Amino acid sequence: MGCALSADGRRLTLTGPLTEQVDFSALPERLDGDVRVDASGISRITSAGVVEWVAFITHLPASARLRFEACSVAFVNQLNTVRSFIGDGRVESICVPYLCPGCGASEEPVMNLEQLEAGLPLTRGPCATCGASLELDVPPDDYLAFLARELGEPLI
Ligand SMILES: [Zn+2]
Repeated sequence: MGCALSADGRRLTLTGPLTEQVDFSALPERLDGDVRVDASGISRITSAGVVEWVAFITHLPASARLRFEACSVAFVNQLNTVRSFIGDGRVESICVPYLCPGCGASEEPVMNLEQLEAGLPLTRGPCATCGASLELDVPPDDYLAFLARELGEPLI
């Protein structure tokens, strides 16, 4: 996995698989204030990667406020499973997976919290390749389980 922090320290870009091989050790001391985190490139997360990640999140300086943008599907699945996955961070937007039943094409549009609050559209389209309607590729309630926490409501 790659972690790239912009020169001004305001933007962190994460790419590739999150596994036990990822090394966050040099990052926390460089994170301060508002940091936007581009999580769209996180392709896969292993259980050992979750342990490394949660240790990183837990040891962030109190002054660092992470805002996660365009969270990938793998990232959202962990958000929904691991309660402390982003600590005190906030989610700004996530990728939502859609699949075309006609030709198998896929799209992952980024949706912000206002759009998610309205509920996930079950279809979208037309497909750029074959013209069919794309269908939501995740169970909508499960995929948005993290949202109640983001909006400050108690988890059921
Ligand atoms: Zn299609």
